[in-house]
Amino acid sequence: MRLISIVVPVYNEEDNIEVFYQEVCKYMSSLEYTFELIFVDDGSSDATPFILERLAQADGRVRGLIMARNYGHQLALTCGLDHANGDAVITMDGDMQHPPEMLPLLLSKWEDGFEVVQTIRVSTEGVSWFKTVTSGMFYKLINWMSKVRIQEGGSDFRLLDKAVVQSFRRFKERARFIRGMIGAIGYRQLLVEFTAPKRYAGTSKFSLKRMLHFALDGITAYSQLPLRFAFYIGLLFALISFGVTMHVVYIKIFTLEAVPGWATISASILLLGGLQLLGLGIIGEYVGRIFEEVKQRPLYLLREELKKDQEK
Ligand code: UDP
Ligand code: MG
Repeated sequence: MRLISIVVPVYNEEDNIEVFYQEVCKYMSSLEYTFELIFVDDGSSDATPFILERLAQADGRVRGLIMARNYGHQLALTCGLDHANGDAVITMDGDMQHPPEMLPLLLSKWEDGFEVVQTIRVSTEGVSWFKTVTSGMFYKLINWMSKVRIQEGGSDFRLLDKAVVQSFRRFKERARFIRGMIGAIGYRQLLVEFTAPKRYAGTSKFSLKRMLHFALDGITAYSQLPLRFAFYIGLLFALISFGVTMHVVYIKIFTLEAVPGWATISASILLLGGLQLLGLGIIGEYVGRIFEEVKQRPLYLLREELKKDQEK
């Protein structure tokens, strides 16, 4: 019988895990597969690891990977994908926003021969208009800026064939935008739509600041357009200032109209200063990321793995 791995990053989800586990068992038991349910504890400070310990002892199909600290959703997913043994691996959130009742559908599409079954969130119940609008804008922007197509509403709820997981493991970058990576990986992909229900319990772990960082990771990982933008603006202003200099020299030498024009000067200094800072800022975003990557630090550290009947 084939093995399916279900990878679930959890960060302070003490009130969701039990229900999630029950639901997954319910839908998987009707199917002809064995499965392993891999929870990746992303440095939770609540009872999450203890619940995982109990579940793992009670059910040999449950594994708990306890990370050394909070690394964020994308690295937790990566850790789970690195440790999954299944012939297919499904990644999903542990808060019931990725409905377990879709598991049979994803698996049947895999049986049809698709190596990536990617879900697309068409709407989310109870989400603020602000998040809907900013997320829509982000996808328009990133698709305009990068060569890789990133589907709007793409979520980290997807099925990957073992072959795709093996390919994915060869990507070693730290600033991860897994949606983009999967899009760029290729293989036979299928999109499946769903409506995300409200979170079962607890609150979203993604603050505005985190969303913004995530968006910047996505854009810088798949587009160099911002760098080029600074270059083109710089070029344009270099040309303009060359023209203006010629004009000033002409006035100074051939006419008597040379007057102290401090308004113009201070205005242009401000404008150019601003543009330079903008350019520096954009370069800084990339340089910072280069710095993070060249350090070649391990992507994450695993404190322990919880498994049935194993000493810790
Ligand atoms: N998560 C994680 N590490 C984090 C933040 C979140 O592993 O630093 C997990 C979280 O427990 C959940 C999933 O990632 O299972 C999605 O997080 P959340 O529901 O907060 O995001 P949202 O659905 O609001 O985008
Ligand atoms: Mg959620």
